[in-house]
Amino acid sequence: MRAAVEKICARFGDDYWLQRDRDGKFPQEFYRALAADGWLGVCIPQDFGGSGLGVCEAAIMMQAVTASGAGLSGASAVHMNIFGLNPVVVYGTEEQKRRMLPPIAAGKEKACFAVTEPNAGLETAKLQTTAKRRGDIYVVNGAKIWISTAQVADKMLILARTAPIAEGRKPAAGLSLFYTALDRRFVEVREIEKMGRKAVDSNQLFIDGLEVPATDRIGEEGRGFEYILHGLNPERILVAAEAIGLGRAALARATAYAKERVVFGRPIGQNQAIQHPLAECWMELEAADLMMLKAAWQYDHGVACAPAANAAKYLAAEAGFKACQTAVTTHGGYGYAKEYHVERYFREMMIPKLAPVSPQLILCFIAEKVLGLPKSY
Ligand SMILES: Cc1cc2nc3c(=O)[nH]c(=O)nc-3n(C[C@H](O)[C@H](O)[C@H](O)COP(=O)(O)OP(=O)(O)OC[C@H]3O[C@@H](n4cnc5c(N)ncnc54)[C@H](O)[C@@H]3O)c2cc1C
Repeated sequence: MRAAVEKICARFGDDYWLQRDRDGKFPQEFYRALAADGWLGVCIPQDFGGSGLGVCEAAIMMQAVTASGAGLSGASAVHMNIFGLNPVVVYGTEEQKRRMLPPIAAGKEKACFAVTEPNAGLETAKLQTTAKRRGDIYVVNGAKIWISTAQVADKMLILARTAPIAEGRKPAAGLSLFYTALDRRFVEVREIEKMGRKAVDSNQLFIDGLEVPATDRIGEEGRGFEYILHGLNPERILVAAEAIGLGRAALARATAYAKERVVFGRPIGQNQAIQHPLAECWMELEAADLMMLKAAWQYDHGVACAPAANAAKYLAAEAGFKACQTAVTTHGGYGYAKEYHVERYFREMMIPKLAPVSPQLILCFIAEKVLGLPKSY
């Protein structure tokens, strides 16, 4: 699998990604190439146009994408196709699966994941966007932020409040999940100018009177948060795989440069102050990879995987970030030049550090759920 994905990625070299980073155009050619060979449906069941493989295979695929130099620009362009519609796979009706999954597996439709809100941040249970039932439809009003690929998406998976936060009930209890058309007559999509990954947009959404057919609601009303939670661990696993891949791309460039660059009459890589950080990066990436594969194996075998999935995301983001930072410093001043690509990797590597969950919140999770310490927030 890795070799097959690498072969496709080899057609899109670092210069392609540098160009996308400059012009900000969505990498359509890359998206189509993966779609043409059936990769976008890797986790979608075979009955609905996919390959029906596990998170382990998806992780190997996404790691090969980032490691090729495509980085987060490549991975985020297809991330939603790979596992984003898992709530539909698990909780959708037969009719919904037939309608919603094949276009995503074939790459004919793009979707975005609209959860984060400006006034809720990481406290997802406190989302404020509302979906009010009116006969056969829901009318959605509210605002979302950081929604990736909304400039190019046809559909969105959106979490909205169908019941107000009420005393004696958990705030998350009134949230419902919908997979519906991103109708731009009722949704203003405003791009956020950001640090990296320019080719894959992130946006503010202003939703004003969007009518969503009740047939687009996934599962039961009020249980949307539960459905989203089910997909969080695999998402952390995939993000971990992506971070490790990009870290390896950075390490490969740094190592090659350390062998070539001669200063003071010898290759800089002959100095231990250059060698040792690179050796540390290799070990830390390998260790994070093992944790990621453990989590993926657990998920695919129905074993509780939350500690390993969270730990993998944390360790991979830290190891990947260190590798990208070390790659810049190994290149000296040239590390700051776009031509050497490592500054782009470094900017993109901030994303797995920050999203979909912050390192602080992972530490809180491990402290509370694994070590049994009191909840701190
Ligand atoms: C490039 C990019 C793409 C994204 N794409 C999407 C997308 O497609 N769809 C989507 O729904 N979202 C997306 N997100 C949003 C992302 O998931 C959120 O940014 C992330 O969940 C953090 O939320 P926040 O930014 O509001 O941080 P906040 O909740 O405001 O937190 C800010 C900081 O405070 C810390 N903090 C908060 N509370 C505590 C506490 N109790 N203890 C310790 N520390 C605490 C956090 O760890 C964090 O460091 C994206 C974000 C980025 C940057």
